[in-house]
Amino acid sequence: MGSTILYIEDNPDNMMLVKRALEARGYKLLQALNGVKGVAMAESEEVDLILLDINLPDIDGYEVARRIRNSGKSSLAYVPIIAVTANALKGDAEKALSAGCDVYMSKPINIRELWARVEAFVPSPQKS
Ligand code: MN
Repeated sequence: MGSTILYIEDNPDNMMLVKRALEARGYKLLQALNGVKGVAMAESEEVDLILLDINLPDIDGYEVARRIRNSGKSSLAYVPIIAVTANALKGDAEKALSAGCDVYMSKPINIRELWARVEAFVPSPQKS
C-alpha cells in the first residue's frame, strides 16, 4: 500500500504544518510550491494522493486539477485530490469538484480533519 502524498502549496507555514502532521502518521510528503511544478511532480513521481491549494502564484488550483485529470499519465485520472483553500465564497467547493477534485477542505487547516480526509483515501502507515 502506497503512502506518498503530494502537497501543492505556496504558503510555507501551511506546508510545514501539513508536513509535520502527515509525517507523524507515517506518510511521505512531496512538496511543490506552485501549480506548474505540482503538475510536473504528479507526472514524474508515484503519488497516492494530492493535496491542492487553490490560490497559487502561477496557475490556480482549479487549472492544476484539470491538468492532472487530463494528463497522459493514466493513474492521474483517478488519484484522489483534496482541494484546500482559504476562499469561503460559495461556489468554491463546486468549482473544485467540477475541476476534478474529490473533496474540499477549508483553511485554516484543522489537523484532525486533515488526517481523517487523507485516511479516507490512503490508510495511515503508522498511527502515532
Ligand atoms: Mn496559496
